Amino acid sequence: MSEPIRNAPAFHHFDSSQQTENLRSPDFTKRDFLRLCATGFAALSGIHLFGFPDNSHAQLAKKGLIKTKLSPFFTPLANGEIQCELCPKHCHVPKGKRGACRVRENRDGKYFSLVYGNPCALHLDPIEKKPLFHVLPATTSFSLATAGCNFHCKFCQNWEISQASPEDVFSYDVSPEFVVDKAKEAGARSIAYTYVEPTIFYEYMLDIGLLAKKEHLLNVCHSNGFINPAPLRQLCQTMDAANIDLKGFTEDFYHELCDGELAPVLETLKILKQEKVHVEITNLVIPTKNDDLGTVKEMCLWVKKELGADTPIHFSRFYPLYKLRSLPPTPVSTLENIRAVAVSTGLEYVYIGNVPGHEAENTFCPKCKKMVIHRTGYMIGEVRLKDGKCSYCGKPIPGIWT
Ligand code: SF4
Repeated sequence: MSEPIRNAPAFHHFDSSQQTENLRSPDFTKRDFLRLCATGFAALSGIHLFGFPDNSHAQLAKKGLIKTKLSPFFTPLANGEIQCELCPKHCHVPKGKRGACRVRENRDGKYFSLVYGNPCALHLDPIEKKPLFHVLPATTSFSLATAGCNFHCKFCQNWEISQASPEDVFSYDVSPEFVVDKAKEAGARSIAYTYVEPTIFYEYMLDIGLLAKKEHLLNVCHSNGFINPAPLRQLCQTMDAANIDLKGFTEDFYHELCDGELAPVLETLKILKQEKVHVEITNLVIPTKNDDLGTVKEMCLWVKKELGADTPIHFSRFYPLYKLRSLPPTPVSTLENIRAVAVSTGLEYVYIGNVPGHEAENTFCPKCKKMVIHRTGYMIGEVRLKDGKCSYCGKPIPGIWT
């Protein structure tokens, strides 16, 4: 593994969309992180589980932990092969082999998750970092991930865990019960399935989610949306909010840069809406790859028509890393032009991400135009909402506020 992003128990697993410039720099190191902590800025940007709030349950991460759980989503084929039905990749997997996400294995004609209970990243994050701007502002979210991903994005910032097999990473042995207990103990209001594509640790996520619901914790995720409808609808029984990466708006973009497809992601967004899960969208704007204003306009019109004008959307700044190091960071002017296009289509909550201190981090009431939530990075200032409504004019603001 290289230095900038380390596996547990280091501090370096972050969401793909909502970081500061320093945190996204390929030269960012643990020393940088600690320096930011010392300045107070990063105090809310991610607290490692076993350093917080006590270490009575402390354990060391171990390399190569594997705990299996039978997948409910596969079809047996001839000769002991199986077809995975969890995500639209529909991997055909011979006996003894794994699917494209690296964390599901065919053992004697049955398909197993290999990462049930073995997260390699556990952090207490501000919920703003997911980013979820319309869910319990200024609360923390107990955040976790395992190894693996069903996409292979060339711009992935967590590639050292997302593009890894369980044997390659340091992980913990923690049951769903332990996760929920620890989240409560830490004072989190939600549990976040994030950092890599959570679909690939579906069984673990679902079991944690069921327990979390009983304990009145919200379940939230940051996802690429690449999941089949049946497992998604089942997951919606426990999921309260989702930030879905809409990485681009052409199939070519998804094929060239993500090894994925656009159409299933759009279907996921529609299903989440039908199932009444609170949805926000993140679009990481990559220079020359997905910054065409005409395509952005098309995307925004789709969002407005299919999901509603009140769907929050985050246009996030790209920083060069992983396989796209030769591209420059997104100019702030590009983000501002894109935001203007999005607003012109009628979208009501259009944010700019990864530019701390930018005015477009704040939430404005679409009716009276007053600022109702003030943000600087992950720090929340004044919140001018009353019972989920603008406290100036009374317009309902979509989200989960209590
Ligand atoms: S979840 Fe993994 S194994 Fe299943 S279809 Fe998707 S990539 Fe393949």
